[in-house]
Amino acid sequence: MAAVAVAENTRVFLLDIEGTTTPITFVKDILFPFIRENLEEYLSAHWEEDECKQDVHLLKKQAEEDVRQNKAGPVHAVDQTVHTDEEKAIREVVDSVVWQMDADRKSTALKQLQGHMWRAAYTAGKIKGEVYQDVAPAVRRWRHRGLKVFIYSSGSVEAQKLLFRYSVQGNLLDLFDGHFDTNIGAKVDSKSYENIAERIGCQPEEIMFLTDITREAKAAEDAGLNVAVVVRPGNMELTEEERKHYTIVTSFNQLELSGNI
Ligand SMILES: [Mg+2]
Repeated sequence: MAAVAVAENTRVFLLDIEGTTTPITFVKDILFPFIRENLEEYLSAHWEEDECKQDVHLLKKQAEEDVRQNKAGPVHAVDQTVHTDEEKAIREVVDSVVWQMDADRKSTALKQLQGHMWRAAYTAGKIKGEVYQDVAPAVRRWRHRGLKVFIYSSGSVEAQKLLFRYSVQGNLLDLFDGHFDTNIGAKVDSKSYENIAERIGCQPEEIMFLTDITREAKAAEDAGLNVAVVVRPGNMELTEEERKHYTIVTSFNQLELSGNI
């Protein structure tokens, strides 16, 4: 593993999660399937609670909006196994959520319910956030040298915090100075990285961004950040050209701070 020198003027590390700090499979094979598998049980258990009522209300408003805009929705067949109005109502919410997930919708209504289900699962110990072994020790070294470390992920800030708060390595939340999600802008839009620099209060070139996705790396680079592309098992293959253009690391341990930092 060759060492990679981090630019001397670096003051901040900005980290992606999926494919960078955390295996892509954790999100794809654990977090999202958990929603599908536990949705009906979760709704039944929490149906009468205010938070769940609000989630359902938001989902219904979303479904009405979809109908108005002529977007296809789930077709409700008459379900012979359903015996009460509540069961029928839950069934409809389940159908709607599954339909939205199949269509890869990113609606606020869907994200809110998912967030609440994950929170319940993490706090009950049913899910633990996966973080690569090299991440926490490296981040602690950087912070010890006075650098700041932020997260930028398309998962909501709340979901990000749950992952690190309830990780396989214990509570890792104190590793980070702050979190950004797509409220600051899309990860493939270079303006987002300018916004982040402004929010942190530093120059773009003082930030080192680590991600597995080259479109995100390109956007960050265009905004003036330094970038390295992280290659982890199961990440998308890079082209020959991308391998030539970008600094590649397979572990955070390869990133070496200069004596001046
Ligand atoms: Mg990623």
